[in-house]
Amino acid sequence: MTETTAGGGKMQLHWKMVIGFLVGTLGGLVCNLWFAHAHWLEVLITYVADPVGQVFLRLLFMLVIPLIFSALVLGVVEIGNPKSLGRIGLKTLLWIVSVTTIAVMIGLVVVNVIKPGVGLPEEQRNILIAQAMEHGTAIVEKGRSAPSGIDLLLNIIPKNPIAAAANGELIAVMFFALMFGVGATVLRTHGTHHFVEVCEGIYDICLRLIDWVIRLAPYAVAALLFSITARLGIDVLIQLARFVGTVVLALGIHFFVVFPILLWTLGRMSPLKFWKASQPAIVTAFSTSSSSATLPTTLMVAEERLGVPRQVGRFVCTLGATANMNGTALFEGITVLFLAQFYGVELALGQQLMVLLLCVMGGIGAAGVPGGSLPVIAMILVMFGIPPEGIGLILGVDRLLDMCRTTVNVTGDLVGSVVVGRGEPEHTGDDVDDMAPV
Ligand code: ASP
Repeated sequence: MTETTAGGGKMQLHWKMVIGFLVGTLGGLVCNLWFAHAHWLEVLITYVADPVGQVFLRLLFMLVIPLIFSALVLGVVEIGNPKSLGRIGLKTLLWIVSVTTIAVMIGLVVVNVIKPGVGLPEEQRNILIAQAMEHGTAIVEKGRSAPSGIDLLLNIIPKNPIAAAANGELIAVMFFALMFGVGATVLRTHGTHHFVEVCEGIYDICLRLIDWVIRLAPYAVAALLFSITARLGIDVLIQLARFVGTVVLALGIHFFVVFPILLWTLGRMSPLKFWKASQPAIVTAFSTSSSSATLPTTLMVAEERLGVPRQVGRFVCTLGATANMNGTALFEGITVLFLAQFYGVELALGQQLMVLLLCVMGGIGAAGVPGGSLPVIAMILVMFGIPPEGIGLILGVDRLLDMCRTTVNVTGDLVGSVVVGRGEPEHTGDDVDDMAPV
């Protein structure tokens, strides 16, 4: 793949993305400052910036289902035997649970120290509460109708894989793909041989398409950021500055302290080298706010730029795009406690430990789409008797924070693939010929 210079020019793609980011952000802020109510600005956002961003996002989402299916089938087939699959699966699960727990703990400590929900001036509180009632209700409804408890577990197994794919139930699609991969690994017939070849073809085509789509990224990044900043401005950031600061600080600790330590000690890779190689995925995550939309880029980075054994990269990154969300879990914890502080609901240590557990599960269960964690937060709020409409308080700044937490989510998948992949054999041969014996 030629992604680093994609676009035909001499400049590297990630630099073009950075320029797109700066142009979009600054352009949007300037327009918001000077022309906030101008009709032409609304027209520009609605008919130019939004559609350009949407074209890019839709092209990425279009590839997610075929990519998840083919990557997981191939990942399992290439891992080859049940013993290795069990080992890699276990390492991945351990990684997800332990690193997500660390993330939530960082969030809870920071929010307890800064207490962003306490001491807001009365007037500002009233404005925020009025906004919350207006905007929070739809999300609360979504949170209430989401399955919980035993249904959540049962839904991992799809009754109808096609329906699951159509409804975007990615965990169910993953389960189906994993089962298919296991079946194709243990059954070595002429038919399964061809099936795996077809998956290889689908996977290769998806990566080629993403190579083309990603050339649009710099323009899409500019358009997406322009829409966001031109609509939001910075007023809303100032209102919720302490909350925003708390989330960004905690995410920063996880990103700049925890990840490098894990890379050094468990992954034996220099963090600088890692960040340089991961730039395309980091910029895509930041600008799309979607782990799923970033998945094609994540897979490309793991395989081609970080040198992760490809069967491990496919397995860890694909599962991770939905199940390994460090940034999301951390954000959920902070938001629940922020709203508890705001509404004066005391949460004892035991209850906070419960919040921790729920957020780790929330990180696994939230969808990898913009705002995917909001219904989960609404659900947790209800459990602790905190007014769930409070979620509306933070909607104004959610997009910005979503960009940051998605970056942490995707980076966590890549760090995980480096760590899990260390010591695993490089997959070199032809996939189909390497299929394990029955
Ligand atoms: N946007 C996040 C992601 O795709 C999910 C969330 O926290 O809302 O990773």
